[in-house]
Amino acid sequence: MTIYNFSAGPAVLPKDVLQQVQAEMVDWHGSGMSVMEMSHRGKEFMGIAAEAEADLRELMGIPANYKVLFLQGGASSQFAMVPMNLLRGKTGADYLNTGEWSKKAIKEAKRYSAVNVVATSEDKNFSYAPAQDQWKLDPNAAYVHYTPNETIGGVEIFWTPELGTQPGDVPLVADMSSTILSRPIDVSKFGLIYAGAQKNIGPAGLTIVIVRDDLMGQTMAGTPSMFDYKIHADNESMYNTPPTFGMYTAGLVFKWLKARGGLAAMEKTNREKAGLLYDALDTTDFYTSPVAKDNRSLMNVPFVIKGSTLKDAALDEAFLKLAKERSLLQLKGHRSVGGMRASIYNAMPIEGVRALVDMMRAFEKSHG
Ligand SMILES: *Cc1c(COP(=O)(O)O)cnc(C)c1O
Repeated sequence: MTIYNFSAGPAVLPKDVLQQVQAEMVDWHGSGMSVMEMSHRGKEFMGIAAEAEADLRELMGIPANYKVLFLQGGASSQFAMVPMNLLRGKTGADYLNTGEWSKKAIKEAKRYSAVNVVATSEDKNFSYAPAQDQWKLDPNAAYVHYTPNETIGGVEIFWTPELGTQPGDVPLVADMSSTILSRPIDVSKFGLIYAGAQKNIGPAGLTIVIVRDDLMGQTMAGTPSMFDYKIHADNESMYNTPPTFGMYTAGLVFKWLKARGGLAAMEKTNREKAGLLYDALDTTDFYTSPVAKDNRSLMNVPFVIKGSTLKDAALDEAFLKLAKERSLLQLKGHRSVGGMRASIYNAMPIEGVRALVDMMRAFEKSHG
């Protein structure tokens, strides 16, 4: 039976990509070496890195005045790197608070900066995103940070906040860890985008940063070299040893996305997949989505079973047992919120979502 993996991250990768990795594992393109064994400064790996960058630039339409950095440390390191690099002599930054990852970013930023929370959805248990006309922006903020997709809460913001896009304007910064590559975005509206790879890009250990040129080179005193975007940019992400195997695998994922029609095609499929699942939730009161309709994530779909709570989760346990019997894996909700969560990233085939919906209906019949 085909196994479907609904993990929030590290998450499912395209089977074709895994098979190509397997085929090339021991001897990459006749080099006699695994990519894992290659010098990051050798001609083979330099080619792999350049191609990965070019493909990502093409997929996302990244303008020439942006650098693409292949780093380590996860999105969590970016929570510190962003203020260290982007404060640029200012004392405060604006943050939108839409859930668990926003809160972590805010907490870390407070080590370096005053933080102005422009708006929060805490009043409704982080089940929606406040509209931009409700944000209390500070015109003197060094930047505005937000999380377009809250991976744990399943809250996605489908519009891009409107800020200036010129040097001197307050730049927009986004933690796109769980939404990058799921649909087209206009990169020129952002000063900086970052994402850990293990949700929608590739294996854990790689972090991608896309940063506008004029925002680099004014780091806070005492910033470690490894935390300085300019140093990484000037060294083409080879200031130290980059996560080579992750970059190679991500590069194969980029080619897979291109072969399937790029991000517009991915958005179409992703909307279809998420639509199947939300329809299944909406046509019964046995299951509920806790998220406001306009903010229902295309990538992470949390849902709760009627009568189940964090304290009494017997129904959840029974649900997960049946899911496992049907080869539907890693559906347990995040420990902080309970319930279920189906993560349906690019690499999740629509057949996996159909299998989940069938299983949900069967479970409702026997337990509803
Ligand atoms: C997973 C995740 C993170 C944390 O990523 P790490 O790579 O574990 O540091 C941060 N933000 C979002 C939105 C995430 O989904």
